Amino acid sequence: MDIRIFLVVRTMLLPSQQSAISGGLGDFFGRVMAGFPDYTVTTPFLRSNPTDATDLDVIVYLVSGPEASVFSALRVSHPTGHGGLTVSPIPPGRRSASEVYVRTEMGSLLARVIFHEVLHNKTGMGNQTLHRHASGGVTAASLSVATDVNAANIQLMGDNLGRRHVQWLAP
Ligand SMILES: [Zn+2]
Repeated sequence: MDIRIFLVVRTMLLPSQQSAISGGLGDFFGRVMAGFPDYTVTTPFLRSNPTDATDLDVIVYLVSGPEASVFSALRVSHPTGHGGLTVSPIPPGRRSASEVYVRTEMGSLLARVIFHEVLHNKTGMGNQTLHRHASGGVTAASLSVATDVNAANIQLMGDNLGRRHVQWLAP
């Protein structure tokens, strides 16, 4: 089963950041695939919306910060200190989408925040549930470059990767 985590770039992203994001996600999802060999996960970067996203794929918008949120027209709140946001359900239907704020030069931290938002998107867990999840690690609300993507985080991702959520395309 092929699953694509589309990273739609809507801000300036340094080659070094992109490289570190790819490396980090390659490591994390490599561990997921090792435990769940039915899945093949790729993390392509795009400069515009994907045209062929399926309900197995996830879309993560990379924006400069909450002031450039793709969700601005939806009037959602942006808790301070969070590195990103996942919103669901978005009408029409019950669509989902995620964004991550490129506020650090550390691509390895951005990779952790992306993995965190993909967990929100795939599990359907909101902040109250995911941030208190027993697995700890990158399920926590506040992440650093040193936050461990632990074995329970990998298990949680693998357990939910096959769930289908129609992704919302930001205008
Ligand atoms: Zn969160």
